[in-house]
Order: sequence, then structure tokens, then C-alpha cells
Amino acid sequence: MKELVVISGKGGTGKTSVVAAFAALAGNAALADCDVDAANLHLLLDPQVQESHEFVGGSIAVIDPEKCTSCGLCEELCRFGAAHDCGLNRQGMPAPFEIETVACEGCGVCAHFCPEGAIKMQETVNGQWFISETRHGPMVHARLGIAEENSGKLVSLVREKSREVAASHGCGVIIVDGSPGIGCPVIASLTGAKLALIITEPTLSGLHDLQRISELTKHFGIPAMVSVNKYDLNGDIAERIEGVARDGGMGIGGRVRYDPVFTKAMLHRQSVVEYTDKGASADLRMLWDTVQAQLADSSAQATTTGEGDGK
Ligand code: SF4
Ligand code: SF4
Repeated sequence: MKELVVISGKGGTGKTSVVAAFAALAGNAALADCDVDAANLHLLLDPQVQESHEFVGGSIAVIDPEKCTSCGLCEELCRFGAAHDCGLNRQGMPAPFEIETVACEGCGVCAHFCPEGAIKMQETVNGQWFISETRHGPMVHARLGIAEENSGKLVSLVREKSREVAASHGCGVIIVDGSPGIGCPVIASLTGAKLALIITEPTLSGLHDLQRISELTKHFGIPAMVSVNKYDLNGDIAERIEGVARDGGMGIGGRVRYDPVFTKAMLHRQSVVEYTDKGASADLRMLWDTVQAQLADSSAQATTTGEGDGK
């Protein structure tokens, strides 16, 4: 299965607009929105939810007050300050200890060492994930609960489900809207990808972000291409970015001009290529052609070198 992951060093580079355009151009793609902390692909693709599931991503400690002897070991051991002494009860005896759920990181240390076996780890629901239909194909997306963690786990789940959905719908390619940044969710977004397309902007921070993210793709041995969005806002830096990409062994996907049509298309809940075929839309079409060719190449190489495609 061909898997393209579109990533960026930070949010707001136009990554999701590129994914939506590719979805429209591909015709037969499965889509995965792995930007689970700030998912917004659904705003452009208007998915009709077919399945909705809870995401159980972690656990918290719960103390059984009947068993707790108030020995204080859990408070001593907890590095997150989540286990608390509750003082005396009405009878003037030591009250059972309590866990502050928002502070508990679910490490399980207290449950392991409690001499009375009074602590149990209880699974927690951290968000939801969905399988939907869009006008361009099936889509797997998710919503992480407010202030919830474990986004790396949720991203892995979205990737896994998108492969199943792609297989059951006979899709030729999976297009992934990756998580921004370089942390754990991005690594989860990239795992198993045949090609990473890095979207960046012609700014010094864009240049810096590209250097950081290219180290990541290199480390995981994933072929990468770079596309400078709004390249015409600073042609000099756009060239420097492309120079860094070439020196780092990355391909140049193509440039996309600054165009207010991105905002107009968004207001119409459409991708740019559906809204018009001029300006940035033409750039995106060329970018997709280049990416498709590279994707076919990378997939063929992976098959020849025995990596296979997981099918
Ligand atoms: S370690 Fe167990 S018995 Fe001791 S205070 Fe904590 S919960 Fe109670
Ligand atoms: S599970 Fe870990 S973080 Fe939570 S209360 Fe126990 S020791 Fe602290």
C-alpha cells in the first residue's frame, strides 16, 4: 500500500489544505487525519461519520479505601505528587489515602508496591476516533479529549485503522495529514510511510523546522520531499530551503504560491483544487503529479528491497 504522510515542522503552514487538495486529485485514496491535537481536515472534507469509538489510551490509579492502611508508601513513591494523605477521619483515625486523578500519570508504581494491594489501575477514555465517508473517499480521524495526553498512541491507532479501511475499500493510496512538530505523534504519523512530504514556509523558522524534521525522516529511513508554501513571500529563503533539502538528499516537490484562494476555498468548505483551477490550484496539481511519481518510485523500491507493503 502506498502511504504518503504530509508533515510540517509546526502548525499553520498550509499542510491540511495540501492534504485536502491531494484527496480531491487522487480520486481513490483513504485519508487519515493524524493531527489529533488540532484536527481540521474534517472542516474541508465534511465527513459523514459511519463509526464512532472511544479511545482508551491510558489509566489512572484508584485506591480501595477498605483496604488502605494509610501507610503512606504511595505518597512517598509517586513522582507526580498525585497520592495524598487525607489526615484523620471522624473517629480520629488515619483516613485512607486518595489519588488526585488529574495529577496521576498512570505509571502504576503505587499499584505495584502498595503492601495491601489496595490500588488498582483503571483504564481511562482519552478521546474518540471515527471512520467516515467523504466525497473523496473514506477517512479515519480522531479527537483527543481536552488536556488529554497519549496523542502518539491515538495517532498509531488512526494509522492502523486507515490501513484496514484502505484495504476494505480497495484504495490505491493512503494520504495522511501528519501531526505537526517533531515529537512522539509525528513519529507515530511517519511510521511505515513510503514517502513524507514536508510543507514549509519561506521564513527562518521554516528553515530551522525543516532541518529538525529532516533529521527525523532520515533517522527512520523515510524518503522525503519538500514543498515551500507561499514561496513568493520570500524567494531568497525559499531557495535556501530548497538548497538545504537537496544537500540533505531530499527531493523538491514543487513550490506553491501565496494565494488568497486558500481562505476562499476554506470558507466554502472545499479544497483549493475543487474551488478553482488557477493560481495556487495549478501549483498543487503539479505538486501532486511530482509526489505521485515519487510515491510510485519509493513503493517500487521498497518492494524490490524486500520491505513489502504490508499486504
Ligand atoms: S500504599 Fe496502599 S496502603 Fe499505603 S497508603 Fe497507599 S494505598 Fe494505602
Ligand atoms: S500511578 Fe503513578 S502517577 Fe499515578 S498515583 Fe500511582 S505512582 Fe502516582
